[in-house]
Amino acid sequence: MQIGFIGLGVMGAPMAMHLAAAGHGILTTLNRSPLPDGLVAEVRPDAAAVAAGAETVILMLPDTPDVDRVLLGPGGVVAGLRPGTLVIDMSTISPIETRRFAQAVQAAGGSYLDAPVSGGQVGARAASLTIMAGGAQADFDRALPLFRLMGKNITLVGEVNGAGQTCKLANQIIVALNIEAVAEARVFASKAGCDPARVRSALMGGFAASRILEVHGERMISRSFDPGFRIRLHQKDLALALSSARSLGVALPNTATAQELMTSCAAQGLADADHSALIRALEGLSAYALSGG
Ligand code: NAD
Repeated sequence: MQIGFIGLGVMGAPMAMHLAAAGHGILTTLNRSPLPDGLVAEVRPDAAAVAAGAETVILMLPDTPDVDRVLLGPGGVVAGLRPGTLVIDMSTISPIETRRFAQAVQAAGGSYLDAPVSGGQVGARAASLTIMAGGAQADFDRALPLFRLMGKNITLVGEVNGAGQTCKLANQIIVALNIEAVAEARVFASKAGCDPARVRSALMGGFAASRILEVHGERMISRSFDPGFRIRLHQKDLALALSSARSLGVALPNTATAQELMTSCAAQGLADADHSALIRALEGLSAYALSGG
């Protein structure tokens, strides 16, 4: 199959490589950055030219305005789309704007799935991403063989566009609040004089055990804040969650607090640090700097 793949960054590059390794032809267009090493793809001048030659177009772009530009802007996907083409947006973007994008693609004779992922760069490289899709069952069934080349836990969350993005934002709320809880416990226990590694080890055997305590708790102890998942991206996702919640009349008090702590981190120059660096904002609130940076 000829697959258009636009957005060959941290996540998109390894995902496209899995599709190419399975024998699919990859068409792409670039935005300043060169073609990633090891990816065999045909580079076309714009997204419209990519869509004109592809049966399926996958997007893995940073944010909502990027998807807007690549889909609906001049030389965008919709301008070159052939009827029957499936557009799959795997970026994490606004569930509300997703519905507008889906309508535009459908009006041009195409089909649309939103299918954001979790699992990070490690999951992208290992083809073990969790994929959360929103859209028609028939479109999901059509995309499934491609999803299986990139991920493992693959769910059609709802037969409406935006459902996948909503699920992804729910994921980001849970991850942020878990990181915040682990960071609070770490500052509390350390200032009380406990050894943080022993505290983590004890808690991993009990009801407070979690993947976040295991992975991010370890990063907070070793003070290794190389991303991972950047504070900047998590801020974007929490902003999407908060604005979607506002439009639904849903209060997310602790998500709002976590977002403010991320903003504090960004103000300290940590926007490109791993999100476990959230602990630095809590240390600031208690005027208690843990050793090791
Ligand atoms: P990234 O910034 O590394 O990659 C984005 C790519 O899109 C870049 O290569 C950029 O050049 C390209 N791009 C931007 N505008 C373009 C255009 N007009 N035409 C062609 N290419 C264009 O970002 P990423 O980390 O790969 O994340 C992509 C998406 O996946 C984001 O929405 C992010 O929130 C989500 N995500 C990221 C992770 C992670 O761990 N990094 C995990 C899960 C989900």
